[in-house]
Amino acid sequence: MDVADRVPRLRARLDEAGCDALLVTNLTNIRYLTGFTGSAAMLLVTPDDLLFVTDGRYRDQATAQLDAARVAGRVEIGRTNDAQREHVAGPVAGMGRLGLEAANVTWAQQRRFGSEWFPDTELVATEDLVEDLRRVKDAGEVARIKAACAMADAALAAVRHRLGEEATEAEVALELEWQMRRLGAEGPSFETIVASGPNGAMPHHRAGDRRIGEGDLVVIDFGALVDGYHSDMTRTFVVGQPSETQRRMLEAVTTAQAAGVAAVRSGVEARDVDEACRSVLRDVGWEDAFLHGTGHGVGLDIHESPRVSATAAGSLADGHVVTVEPGVYLPEHGGVRIEDTVVVTSEGCRTLTLAPKAPFL
Ligand code: ZN
Ligand code: ZN
Repeated sequence: MDVADRVPRLRARLDEAGCDALLVTNLTNIRYLTGFTGSAAMLLVTPDDLLFVTDGRYRDQATAQLDAARVAGRVEIGRTNDAQREHVAGPVAGMGRLGLEAANVTWAQQRRFGSEWFPDTELVATEDLVEDLRRVKDAGEVARIKAACAMADAALAAVRHRLGEEATEAEVALELEWQMRRLGAEGPSFETIVASGPNGAMPHHRAGDRRIGEGDLVVIDFGALVDGYHSDMTRTFVVGQPSETQRRMLEAVTTAQAAGVAAVRSGVEARDVDEACRSVLRDVGWEDAFLHGTGHGVGLDIHESPRVSATAAGSLADGHVVTVEPGVYLPEHGGVRIEDTVVVTSEGCRTLTLAPKAPFL
């Protein structure tokens, strides 16, 4: 993973964004740019300097992590808010325009920055300067996501038999998370979804105390976290024999998901991938039962750019890592969702989530 290369690429975008420097406050972006994993920091990126400011808790960790990532920058420790302000305000004084990350700065912070921190500098709202860089993953990032996907595959293989043993949703979720931890994951990449029977009709149902039983569709959506990188996969199982409607749901979503994956290739509009899934469900009369977009980017955040939806702007590119996850949700019958995480290539894509899709236990 080439972390040191990222700040220079960000600098090249400052001019276009209309600012002389950028104050990065989004911690995930700071991690991406410096390798720092702590919970408090600010990063000032100027054309020829990099200033990293954190508090006393991270005195040693900050230096160690920036050094390990070979990031050339100055680390300053401010034990109080005032001390941190002094570290950052010094270099900013005399600057014409300072970019802030609009999506990450609260109204209160923006007022404080304007009146107390940088009274003589024009503040510029920027969007997606770092997020755009994060879309394209390098080989080291893909390797981490792939490792996370493999842990989830193995965890599911170890736990899926529990669906036929009248376990509760929460028990299955806990066992999946335990297996992923045992395999080396830092943790689940988000709160594991196990949604059985009528609960499956809610796309983001939380695993609860419902006991899984005969005739249930069970939607399992989960992932592992490896070195900050997420995996994301959904499989749907049926306990016993499916009803006629459930069988049609499984078939339609399987077909839609395969059509979406087949549409992924660098240069393709993200919304065309959504349409590839959506049109299959439209043809069988279930477009209205598909309650969300087709997918999203995956990386240091579980949901990141690029979005894959009917309204998404922009096209996919080599090295994007995205999900394809159509679903059909019918309160009377349950839910079906199938999701893979794939790496976009010039020929199509490479699927990282390899657990079998057959719904039968
Ligand atoms: Zn998911
Ligand atoms: Zn997802």
